[in-house]
Amino acid sequence: MRILVTGGAGYIGSHTVRLLLARGHDVTVLDNLSYGHRQAVPADRLVVADLGDISQVDALLVDRRVEAVVHFAAFAYVGESVTDPAKYYANNLLNSLALLDACRRRGVQKFVFSSTCATYGVPAVVPITEDEKQVPINPYGNTKLAFERALADYAAAYPFGYCALRYFNAAGASPDGTIGEDHHPETHLIPLVFQAALGKRPHVEVFGTDYPTPDGTCVRDYIHVDDLAEAHILALDRLGPGAQFRYNVGIGRGYSVREVIRTAEAVSGLRVPVKEGPRRVGDPAELVAGAGRIRHALGWAPAYTELRPILETAWNWHRTHPEGFGPNA
Ligand code: UDP
Repeated sequence: MRILVTGGAGYIGSHTVRLLLARGHDVTVLDNLSYGHRQAVPADRLVVADLGDISQVDALLVDRRVEAVVHFAAFAYVGESVTDPAKYYANNLLNSLALLDACRRRGVQKFVFSSTCATYGVPAVVPITEDEKQVPINPYGNTKLAFERALADYAAAYPFGYCALRYFNAAGASPDGTIGEDHHPETHLIPLVFQAALGKRPHVEVFGTDYPTPDGTCVRDYIHVDDLAEAHILALDRLGPGAQFRYNVGIGRGYSVREVIRTAEAVSGLRVPVKEGPRRVGDPAELVAGAGRIRHALGWAPAYTELRPILETAWNWHRTHPEGFGPNA
């Protein structure tokens, strides 16, 4: 399939691009490298351009005869979305809508979208199934949900099918250690824990120790990035006009912040300096996926079903790339 991957030089995007190429797909990556890394994708696949440059996006759809779009490009800092919602609505919603409509005009009928468990807000029930009400509690989640709604309306009206994958906590790295997680600024727990272990940070701060969870710290469902990538590929294989797939993607098991830190110490053999701090605003106590729907519908099953092997791949990346990818060439 000829596939355009927006944001394909980012963390989840680059792992997905690698898998798509391994499966023989013809992939074009669109990335403005504002957060993505040039080194994360093959140079001959990368078009450095902004999603907001709709004439260029449109030209790519036509020139490359694109049959499917996998749309990762988005801003994803929850805190920033609260202080600067305009930035999030402009990119995650307006630019995405422009891309979607270019797909309609150019006859691209398959679309896979990076959505998020943040669209559920604070869930009434855990594990969270796709039937849970989507009530986001921050602008980031609002923009993702708004675009999910647009996809549903397009699929109902036009010859178009989509899959919205609601990611839980993406984690880990390619097992060969060549690509991995590298955000600037880094806000995610696992990279911060390994950076603290390596002495690149004085400590990792635990955000809240008084949650109603077994050890008082937040519980999350960490899903290996290659298992996430596989979900995109299975979705692409099944998509057709009218399809409206909405799936949670997680392992269905939660680990606390303290468990992540303990496991990272075991995997690295290093001590992780920890400081206990207050809760971070907007963090639900527990987010765990009920991921039965994607298993049944697409035959998806995660290769990594426990935290430790996921952290082993992450450690392999951080150990060998203490500066991440380094500056963009
Ligand atoms: N967390 C933490 N200290 C940090 C970063 C994160 O205690 O420096 C916690 C955070 O409160 C959450 C979990 O680790 O419960 C995962 O956070 P992350 O930012 O990695 O992902 P999120 O769940 O926000 O998507």
